Amino acid sequence: MSGDDGWVLVYDGFDPAKQGLRESLCALGNGVFVTRAAAEESRADGTHYPGTYLAGGYNRLATEVAGKTIVNEDLVNFPNWLPLTFRPAGGEWFDLAHVAVLTYRLELDMKRAVLTRHVRVRDRDGRETSVSSRRLVHMGDPHLATIDYGITPENWSGRVEVLSELDGSVINGGVARYRDLASRHLEVVDAGEHGDDGIWLLARTTQSRVEMGLAARTKAYRGTEGGGERAEQARRVVREPGRIGLELAFDAGEGETVSVEKIVSIHTSRDGAIAEAALESRESVDRCGRFEALLSSHEAAWAPLWRQCDVQIEAPGQEQLILRLHTFHTLQTLSPNTLGRDVGIPARGWHGEAYRGHVFWDEVFIYPFFNARYPALTRSLLLYRHRRLPWARQLAEREGYEGAMFPWQSGSNGQEETQVIHLNPKDNTWGPDLSRRQRHVNIAIAYNVWQHWVISGDLDFLSRYGAEMILEIARFLGSLATLNGITGRFEILGVMGPDEYHEKYPGSEEPGLRNNAYTNVMAVWVIQRALELLELLSPTRVSEISESIGLSPDEVERWQDITRKMTVPFHGEGVISQFEGYDRLKEFDWKAARARHGNITRLDRILKAEGDSPDGYKLAKQADVLMLFYLLSLDDLEPLFAGLGYKFDADVLRRTVDYYLPRTSHGSTLSKVVHASVLDGFDPVRAWDLFNEALQADLADIQGGTTREGIHLGAMVGTLDIVLRHFAGVDAAGDTIGFSPRLPEPLRSLRLRVRHRGRWYGLKVTRDRVVVELEPGPGGPVKVRVLGEESTLEPGGHCERELPGAQ
Ligand code: BGC
Repeated sequence: MSGDDGWVLVYDGFDPAKQGLRESLCALGNGVFVTRAAAEESRADGTHYPGTYLAGGYNRLATEVAGKTIVNEDLVNFPNWLPLTFRPAGGEWFDLAHVAVLTYRLELDMKRAVLTRHVRVRDRDGRETSVSSRRLVHMGDPHLATIDYGITPENWSGRVEVLSELDGSVINGGVARYRDLASRHLEVVDAGEHGDDGIWLLARTTQSRVEMGLAARTKAYRGTEGGGERAEQARRVVREPGRIGLELAFDAGEGETVSVEKIVSIHTSRDGAIAEAALESRESVDRCGRFEALLSSHEAAWAPLWRQCDVQIEAPGQEQLILRLHTFHTLQTLSPNTLGRDVGIPARGWHGEAYRGHVFWDEVFIYPFFNARYPALTRSLLLYRHRRLPWARQLAEREGYEGAMFPWQSGSNGQEETQVIHLNPKDNTWGPDLSRRQRHVNIAIAYNVWQHWVISGDLDFLSRYGAEMILEIARFLGSLATLNGITGRFEILGVMGPDEYHEKYPGSEEPGLRNNAYTNVMAVWVIQRALELLELLSPTRVSEISESIGLSPDEVERWQDITRKMTVPFHGEGVISQFEGYDRLKEFDWKAARARHGNITRLDRILKAEGDSPDGYKLAKQADVLMLFYLLSLDDLEPLFAGLGYKFDADVLRRTVDYYLPRTSHGSTLSKVVHASVLDGFDPVRAWDLFNEALQADLADIQGGTTREGIHLGAMVGTLDIVLRHFAGVDAAGDTIGFSPRLPEPLRSLRLRVRHRGRWYGLKVTRDRVVVELEPGPGGPVKVRVLGEESTLEPGGHCERELPGAQ
């Protein structure tokens, strides 16, 4: 793998073992659908896994497993629009498994958002052929995708047959652990031909009845890159169960290139402004021009996204390339095309089937990126949660709580989608999945709403939608807290923190733990924000909401009490305990475990397969207590703890970080992001190393095979957030934006742009200087803080300062 110019990710050589990973990392999308980078000729076969996923496109299926009927909601693998292959007349269809691969090169050009593949192969009869394909998923028109597939017979000539298909026979087969579960989510409703070079197919999900209509036009031209003369001499439509194809035939001379252009339009019943999905696709595919025209409008749609979101750094290694890769996949998952759609933030992108496309708390790592660029998109994504308040209220009520309890895993309608049992691939056994006890997802939702408010200042959104979410979540957290008659303090019992390795006390049958520090402290923070809201909104609005949700003065008084009397467990010389009793667990022998198992990131699976359990040990899958320091600053936390009657300062913070760091296995890719961010304040060298490890999470697939099942969006965006908040030192909370950059030693320079309160700012940082400029545009002068000092900037003006320590 190379990619030295920082824009192009290049893979040389065909490596079947790495194919799944590359398909995820080179996937193309536009915020509405994402298609994996499977080869055009391939089908799902253990090496290749073509997959196309629609943002928010879910379906439920029931399966009998381990004596139970379980229902899972999955992100559906929709029809494959890629299939395109060829054969010399009478020969075999091109299949990478049956030819000698002479050269193979895959290039993902992120700037243009184009995937290119150059292959030269020799078939069993000694015929050598080169194939050069270019592919894009259109960012400007989110219904379009296209492939330009050039075929060059290198040492032969003759008739070439091409097959271009739309394949609705696909199933969900992308995650080996789910193989025992029902996987046929689609039925093909209809398919047909369209004009003389078109085919179409309409498929529907079996339960959610989401329809996808696809139409494809396939034409062959002599010459490369827009060559004009049509090449095909014959064509016919071929039908197979669940698939429809167009076969073309033409004569090609030795060394002559014939380009096959396949243009595909995709509409679904979830789109607005359509009559019917297949009809719309047939009409739109007729309207659009050829590959080159689509390429230039596609590049034009990406250009402003890159201008606004690109982070430019001078760094010693691949950091630039990887940050671009992370920005690229973020924008392919959620883009301005996502605006107004009923879509949440998927933990694994729309890039694969892991975690079934569900929405977790990972949003908390992702919103900062959008708050600083496209707050309108943040609002659109927050509305995904707001629309699901009725289900959240029902979930709370069912468990005997007040307010709204959002589910740990959310999908189509907002009911709890966390599986009830899960497979341990280490020993192939099914066991209970208790992770739904992570009530802290609600904290993340309230935090995201509040952050959007402090950064955007959008009081209208807060008042109309955000307030209801924060108040209902505060009510839920308040009702979760119970008063302990002995200590006189409130407690939260039976929950799990972010560290999923601790599900319950060792040997106990009762799920959950007592007083998870992260949950308790953040519950207080949320309740404080709810109280602040009651002061901030107009009295009329407060009484409207209070009436509609039934909030009484007694409840508000109880909230105040909770903010003074919540329990926070400590142990030793002032270390915050992850939960009550954590210090009584056994120390874990990390050295022995590493020696025995090598990669010990998934200690839960390892220990359970040995008949043991992580519950009994002082270990963690990921940052748990430390999440407090990730989300809140010392200045936020000191008064909060003081209000509760606990001592908290920089020393407690430091001791707590030092305590948990060696006891964390980083079994979630989110963990290193949190540690890098938290350590940056006092150990920048270690923080830089952890930042670099976080950068490698997907590119190097450090979890040993999970990236092929989907990217880790939270960790990707988390690294971009570290650059924004720490290296660039952007503080966007409040009316005035602040810039206090602090480049880690290995970085020579940094440039990025951010939006604050409707204005775009450019930031340039070198080792000795910082320059902040306000982009020209409508509006008058604004105040900014640069290195803590206030300046006024005119549109088009800038402010330059020397960095402390510069010579
Ligand atoms: C992590 C969770 C995360 C989920 C989805 C799990 O492995 O432990 O914190 O929300 O993955 O990314």
